[in-house]
Amino acid sequence: MSDPFALLAVTTLLSVMMLAIVWSLRRCGQPGVRHWWQSNLTAMVALVLFTLRGRIPDILSIVVANGALAWALALFHAGIARFCGREPPWRAMAAATLAVVAGVVTWRYIYNDFNARVVVVSVFHAVLCACVGYVLVRYRPRARPTSHYLTTAGFAFFLAAAHALRGILSALSVMDDPSTMTSPGLNAAFLVLGAMATPGLTMGAVLMIHDAMVRRLEAIANSDYLTGTMSRKAFEEEARRELARAARGGHPPVLLIVDIDHFKSVNDTFGHAAGDAVLVEFARLVTASLRAPDRIGRMGGEEFVVLLPASSLEDARHVAERIRSLAGASPVGGPFGTVRYTVSGGYAAWQPGESLPELTARADTALYMAKLSGRNRVLPHTAAPDVMPHAAPAQAAQPSATAPSGERQRR
Ligand code: GH3
Ligand code: MG
Ligand code: MG
Repeated sequence: MSDPFALLAVTTLLSVMMLAIVWSLRRCGQPGVRHWWQSNLTAMVALVLFTLRGRIPDILSIVVANGALAWALALFHAGIARFCGREPPWRAMAAATLAVVAGVVTWRYIYNDFNARVVVVSVFHAVLCACVGYVLVRYRPRARPTSHYLTTAGFAFFLAAAHALRGILSALSVMDDPSTMTSPGLNAAFLVLGAMATPGLTMGAVLMIHDAMVRRLEAIANSDYLTGTMSRKAFEEEARRELARAARGGHPPVLLIVDIDHFKSVNDTFGHAAGDAVLVEFARLVTASLRAPDRIGRMGGEEFVVLLPASSLEDARHVAERIRSLAGASPVGGPFGTVRYTVSGGYAAWQPGESLPELTARADTALYMAKLSGRNRVLPHTAAPDVMPHAAPAQAAQPSATAPSGERQRR
């Protein structure tokens, strides 16, 4: 494996494998994948041409090969930029690649100076690798640990340093042409490092794609598609964690359930799109009015649940009342007309030993009573007999105000 051309052949094969992996991810919906795929294809062509040095004309094995490898890195950088939500600097990259080609032509056909060619190529690769690392560090997602981004950035900076060193050594005329040298030496090491750049960086990109796909699936599973509030599953997981914290001696939370009044008639009168608009607007209103630690989830239909950590019933009353009055004062306009709506709510403070279904059932009972007593109101679940579960006979006494039986069954 001391022959640099054998090493080049191996890295070409590696590039083919990376190409296959990136190709398999082309429909994953992540920005940048298309450029990474093109980058690997271009790098592979370049590596094949490099490998054939001496067997094919220099115009192909030196000029086209160096131009292709430079453009491959530019495409990789474009993929990184797109992946991080940036617009790639196409003009600058195209101009720099053309400058590399012009430099290689000059120092092959006019002066035939190997070291000068390496300086030109190394400067390009050092700068672009540094740019890849910079974009990754600067624009990486901050929402969760991003070791893949930093590892890839680290590799890019390492490549940038190696290319810079190669350029400096070439400027000092320390390196010799791999086609004429007798031992692989430093030059072969740099050659392989350069050839490894695209497949190595692509491996980092593949890890980042996987990370992004996992994040997207988590986001889909944890949020309600229409309103953007937490999904029921995510809300309940969060609420259980909060109850466990309270059970360990933390401040007890309050659970508030809010339900839009006569929502069915909103749909019936204004259409389903109007109903959706009301749901979106109401969720936005509530979300904007909550504190940072509060959580809101959509339990289903037009019913939302709010968790108020470390809150008293009195705190919750203020929050619930604010939500109720905000909703009543915020008609929703659209092509369907103007929809005025009200909401009812029920809330309950967590008691030691209580499970989430038990707490939810008590808040739901209070909501039920708010509906029974005329809607557009919020009630606490307290020890008062009118809101205890045994107050259910009121349902029979006022059948016209009965909350939908479906709701009761859901609990
Ligand atoms: P109450 O005041 O007792 O809560 O009556 P309500 O009409 O609000 O309650 P009901 O359960 O009878 O009706 C809920 C309606 O919500 C029925 C269903 O079609 C509608 N709905 C559920 N999910 C959606 C949705 O995502 N979009 C729209 N537009 N409507 C929905
Ligand atoms: Mg309703
Ligand atoms: Mg409902």
